[in-house]
Amino acid sequence: MSFYETFLEMIFPKNLKCRVCGRESNESHYSICASCVRSIEYINPPFCLKCGKPLEDDSLRKCYECKKHHYHFVEARSVGTFTGVLKKAVYRLKYKKDVYIARPLAVLMAESFKHLDWPEADIIIPVPLSNSKLFKRGFNQSYLLARELGKLLKLKVSDRHIIRVRDTDSQTKLTRAQRWENMKGAFEVFKKEALKGRTIILVDDIFTTGATVDECSRTLIEDAGVKEVYVFTLATAKNIT
Ligand SMILES: [Zn+2]
Ligand SMILES: [Zn+2]
Repeated sequence: MSFYETFLEMIFPKNLKCRVCGRESNESHYSICASCVRSIEYINPPFCLKCGKPLEDDSLRKCYECKKHHYHFVEARSVGTFTGVLKKAVYRLKYKKDVYIARPLAVLMAESFKHLDWPEADIIIPVPLSNSKLFKRGFNQSYLLARELGKLLKLKVSDRHIIRVRDTDSQTKLTRAQRWENMKGAFEVFKKEALKGRTIILVDDIFTTGATVDECSRTLIEDAGVKEVYVFTLATAKNIT
């Protein structure tokens, strides 16, 4: 079976309910129906060449935030904007604990990934959750996406190299600058030797300000000697709040 056939099979198998809209139809999918998939707001040009967020003006190469801020990762890309179907799907995954939705979401990620001109990566690493968060939720949604993506791309996935030593999730009341400051030292790397000189794909569910993935990237590069980090997320928040 070709990759595309596998893709169709994963996304459009028969007689299953769509995990996003609940509809049943002949073109029913593994878990996300064709009409939901079609309604995804995919990232198309123009987008910021650094963080991958959509741009209004195609004469720009980078968004306002990327012009004034230095990120440690090479570039970040996402399947689509954190709206509509992708927003509902992430909500189902994280809060309704619908872990089975990770597979079709990873299929969408794999499909988008094929269009990236990134160098061959050595390993996929999901952004870790803090232990308290992990205990509360029972799973790390980014690990589930990374694991399925790894299977589809035939790449090694490891959630054992980086851990979150500080919970920094409740920072909605902080200003943008405070958020970045607050992220510092949130992660710790293990088995550094195995990561030295490697090219890593860092996977997360949503790219918001980029503060989390950037601190993860910084830690991997500065503490473990990782060569390059590429960030790949399912969705990207359109507007930074
Ligand atoms: Zn649907
Ligand atoms: Zn940007």
